[in-house]
Amino acid sequence: MMNQQRCSNFLVFLLSFILISVTPFFAPDSSDVSATMTPSPAGELEKLKQEEARLSSLLAQVRQQKLSVLQSRPLTIGIIGFGRFGQFIGKSFSKYGNVIGTSRSDYTKIASEMGAKYIPLSNLEEFAMEEDMDVIVIAVSIVSFEDTVKDLVPHLQKRLEEKGSCPLIVDVLSVKEHARNVLLNHLPQECDILCTHPMFGPDSAKHSWQGQTFVYERTRIDGVLLDPTKGYDSNSDNEGQFVDDQGNSHSAHENSEAHVEGMDRIERFLSIWEEEGCNMISLSCKSHDEFTANSQFVTHLMGRILEGQGLQATPIDTKGFQSVLRLIETTSADSFDLFYGLYKFNRNSKETITRLKEAMNEVVGKLLKMEGESEEQLNSCL
Ligand code: NAP
Repeated sequence: MMNQQRCSNFLVFLLSFILISVTPFFAPDSSDVSATMTPSPAGELEKLKQEEARLSSLLAQVRQQKLSVLQSRPLTIGIIGFGRFGQFIGKSFSKYGNVIGTSRSDYTKIASEMGAKYIPLSNLEEFAMEEDMDVIVIAVSIVSFEDTVKDLVPHLQKRLEEKGSCPLIVDVLSVKEHARNVLLNHLPQECDILCTHPMFGPDSAKHSWQGQTFVYERTRIDGVLLDPTKGYDSNSDNEGQFVDDQGNSHSAHENSEAHVEGMDRIERFLSIWEEEGCNMISLSCKSHDEFTANSQFVTHLMGRILEGQGLQATPIDTKGFQSVLRLIETTSADSFDLFYGLYKFNRNSKETITRLKEAMNEVVGKLLKMEGESEEQLNSCL
């Protein structure tokens, strides 16, 4: 019995040996998983890698097709704050999808003229529960932003309970760190967040958005807070790769339906601005505020100061003076709420004012020195 057992073990061993030895002569198709039978571990790994590459390319094709299907459905975009800027963006959005506006004032007529639906802000619940709402853009004044977000949250929570979905929440505030903090502090974790600032408005881009700068930060997708300094680079070799705030690398095609759909929704929304010809800049909210304190805020500040001078056009204006008048006209067309928001909610603004005052003193000081004014006289003038 023992001998028989040994004999059959020997036969199995012999057969395995023959099989392994002849396998290289009958090399299997690269897609054949029996390739794992090859004797050389290095060759085996190579084949498995080829198989892996083939499957992931197939998967990428399927996902691409899926994205095309998703892209074929136009977005429904809600806008909270249908004032000057809300109407301005609503007009362009209506070329690409369905627009639903809501605001304190009654803008029903203006909305219907651009083919949009209008729901009064007093009925925020109906707005938030709109069946196909894909995106909600919050375009209220900077100073009323936090209260508006707080008012919206219970309706989003109800929507999550009843429909299981939250629209992508987008802000367009001219200050970005404040907007980001408010959205992260108050919104349910399930809501994706995109922080944006179109660096143009109803005056500067009256005729077209072509070439206008659009700044954005993909802030949160499917509960993952993205690293605002690294972001998502669709133009790099690592297309669709991004790094979260923990330093973990993610793929746009992670094994999560919610992630793929969330990413696609953001891309579809961003593509509206791309289609309109904007110069798309992915930038962290923090860097945005550092830049704009010395660009946008200083522009508004100078506009307001010069407006206070009561300057008027004359028959002999220079080109330089004409641009001063234009500056006054565009900055004073914006609400004082907007100007105040730029000051209050950008922590760099105070420093900008201090530096402007110092620069003014320095320039005036130089003039007085040329006149031979004494230090005392000089200080009394400043
Ligand atoms: P704004 O004075 O900053 O905001 C006016 C909007 O805020 C109106 O829709 C107004 O609604 C709403 N609003 C004001 N107080 C409110 C409150 N207590 N509760 C609810 N809603 C309130 O002027 P804007 O130019 O339209 O700007 C809107 C947003 O877009 C701002 O966050 C601004 O930073 C941003 N933005 C503006 C420009 C621009 O060029 N103007 C460019 C980029 C981004 P009602 O009209 O119904 O009262």
